[in-house]
Amino acid sequence: MITLDEAQEEVLAACRATSPIEVAVSAALGLILAEDAYASEAVPGFANTAMDGFAVHAADVVSASQETPVRLKVIGTRAAGIAEAQTVGRGEALRIMTGALFPEGADAVAIVEDTRSAGDFVEVLAPSDAGQHIRPAGDDISPGQLLFRAGARLGPGHVGVLCAVGCASVRAFPRPLVGVLSTGDELVEAGPPLEAGQIRDSNRRTLLSLLERDGFRTLDLGIARDDEAAIESALASGVSSCDAILTSGGVSMGDFDYVKTVLDRMGRMRWMQVAIRPSKPFAFGVVGETPVFGLPGNPVSSMVSYELLARPGLRQIAGYLPGELKRPTVRALLAGAGWRGSRDGRTTFVRVGSEFGPDGRLTVSSAGAQGSHQLYAMARANALAVTPPGVTVEEGDAVDVVLID
Ligand code: AMP
Ligand code: MG
Repeated sequence: MITLDEAQEEVLAACRATSPIEVAVSAALGLILAEDAYASEAVPGFANTAMDGFAVHAADVVSASQETPVRLKVIGTRAAGIAEAQTVGRGEALRIMTGALFPEGADAVAIVEDTRSAGDFVEVLAPSDAGQHIRPAGDDISPGQLLFRAGARLGPGHVGVLCAVGCASVRAFPRPLVGVLSTGDELVEAGPPLEAGQIRDSNRRTLLSLLERDGFRTLDLGIARDDEAAIESALASGVSSCDAILTSGGVSMGDFDYVKTVLDRMGRMRWMQVAIRPSKPFAFGVVGETPVFGLPGNPVSSMVSYELLARPGLRQIAGYLPGELKRPTVRALLAGAGWRGSRDGRTTFVRVGSEFGPDGRLTVSSAGAQGSHQLYAMARANALAVTPPGVTVEEGDAVDVVLID
């Protein structure tokens, strides 16, 4: 057996980022930047008012109050987007709307709530300091400023900033296309009642869903029978169009585990026994240039090996930085009944539900039956409690958990 770390290193050594492309900002959400992004424009581009009100001279309204209003002559109205030249003199006020270009001459805003209209005049009822409610040019972003470093993941706020500086496209890593193949003579899809020995194919849709959730593009390669030619033709078509392939089933010690045989012939594969439970058997290698992850068939095993082994490799292909590849591990308090680690030297990843208690502490409890075929608990879990071999954990113990949701 090899350790999980060793298996992960093996994967990461063979997964190279896709070649960066120029992507419209409108299509960049969730992508990883391939080069530093700089601002070509200031934001805001000009001094403007943060409030609806009147552009005034602070010195004119120093003594303003409800009892002693200051009367100023209103010289016009300026909406956002209007830029006609207008200078506010002493004793004057320009009515301005939020976002409007701040006029020459004035140095303060009397907010509309502190004013009373009086024909061609406005009565100001409170003083306003010079600069108050004025947003200076560039007070958010200055031209030439480094916005985001290469490796940043573009979230909605990043996209907004790029739009704010007038950037139409960025260099980013394209979303990898990942093919998913199920293997097994027993597998059928939803439809007629099951015949003896048949089961529904759940892995393929689960893996496709995990990939979609994680921002990858997917290609459904269907179900291949336990037949070398069928597996080979499905893999060949996947490898020719995808950036990576996930298969499930056919990688353990059974008589009909042909995925092994076929991949050995097609590519440079390594068959691993990883010291984890579930999901000990794991195959990984490259066919041509395409990384192929041979995940075990048991539904929980295929999900856990996706989280721990495939996902980090796929994220590297998607351009994520080294520190962003693996799921975070945090300490949590075991709230329910405990369990015992394995006796065969494997680290157990117990499916648990985690939640923050009223005291702000993260607590976990078992999500249900822990067999590697028992998918129900996995569906209810949002974390995996890491239990080293031979260790017993009890209610109230602190445990390490990998957050998977
Ligand atoms: P294998 O790795 O092919 O020996 O499969 C291990 C176990 O996982 C067997 O019980 C299979 O029936 C089951 N299995 C394999 N593929 C799938 C699948 N796509 N969906 C659900 N169960 C599967
Ligand atoms: Mg099988």
